[in-house]
Amino acid sequence: MGYLRPNIAGMAGYVPGFQPPDEASWIKLNTNENPYPPSPQTIKAIQSATGEGLRKYPDAASRAGRAAAAEVYGYPVDWVIMANGSDELLNNLIRACAGEGEEIAYLHPSYSYYATLAEVQGARVKTFALMESGEIKDFPERYAGRLFFLTNPNAPLGLHWGVDEVAALADRCDGLLVVDEAYADFAPGNCLELVRQKPNVVVTRTLSKSYSLAGMRLGLAIARPEIIVALDKIRDHYNLDRLAQAAVAAALLDQEYFKRCVAQVCATRDWFSMELGALGYQVLPSSGNYLFTVPPDRDGKRVYNGLYARKILVRYFSDPVLAHGLRISIGTREEMEKTLAALVEIG
Ligand code: PMP
Repeated sequence: MGYLRPNIAGMAGYVPGFQPPDEASWIKLNTNENPYPPSPQTIKAIQSATGEGLRKYPDAASRAGRAAAAEVYGYPVDWVIMANGSDELLNNLIRACAGEGEEIAYLHPSYSYYATLAEVQGARVKTFALMESGEIKDFPERYAGRLFFLTNPNAPLGLHWGVDEVAALADRCDGLLVVDEAYADFAPGNCLELVRQKPNVVVTRTLSKSYSLAGMRLGLAIARPEIIVALDKIRDHYNLDRLAQAAVAAALLDQEYFKRCVAQVCATRDWFSMELGALGYQVLPSSGNYLFTVPPDRDGKRVYNGLYARKILVRYFSDPVLAHGLRISIGTREEMEKTLAALVEIG
């Protein structure tokens, strides 16, 4: 296929978590979705955005969303950009910073989509090993790559770095430090304040997890205005459709509902973690809406298959550093009780 760039023809492509077609018959704990519905205000806003108005293009600048995010996160509006899922921002940050043959880095394990995005761009990838203790192996005194993605909290392990540790990492990076805070709403802290303090820090967020809006594809970044200007040049000009724009403003402004759902997920996570421990499973402390857990026989695939046979979907990674365990998203208390009962049966 001489028509294609060799890196595109040769790459494997990212494989997202499985979305079963008969999703109502599964307990779905494999893609870190929120078990609770979007806020009633958000659903109402989406409903009122459907209809005649869809004939027209959406606001190219997503102004209502930017204004809502600026208010909620305490930044001026020109420090905010909206995206069609935070995946779009991760992609555009690589495109903005790393040319062909230039290097970006991330931790292994973390979100493997960074590698796919770099491959498309023709950028080189460097990984630093993350130990289950939280230690980052061999991170240099100065990292000279164009961009370093820090998933904080880490997915899939759930580890969380405090703001001082992340600030120290930022000081060691010549390029951008992108703190991927997809799960930060479930964590004890976040790195938003670092964007003001460190010229090379960008924070990305998503509404997929803590705001129950994975289906709407909504993400955002907080960064210095010069970086926002660059990202605005790269994105699709109509990257958020009208329904997404209605949803994002309503969801961000309904903080009371959001806080209640997040608190419930965290409480279920902490309870589930204790129960797993009582079953003899090893559980890494998690600051996300998921847990990485290791069964007593360290055979993640066996337990994955046992759960799958009972229509409970969790995430198994064949990657050798993760194959001894499973990542289990936190569902409702009832879903997690059923999962525990299934684990007892599976033995
Ligand atoms: N970052 C991390 C660490 C994730 O796990 C995900 C979800 N798969 C994303 C970013 C992307 O989230 P979204 O595109 O749904 O905003």
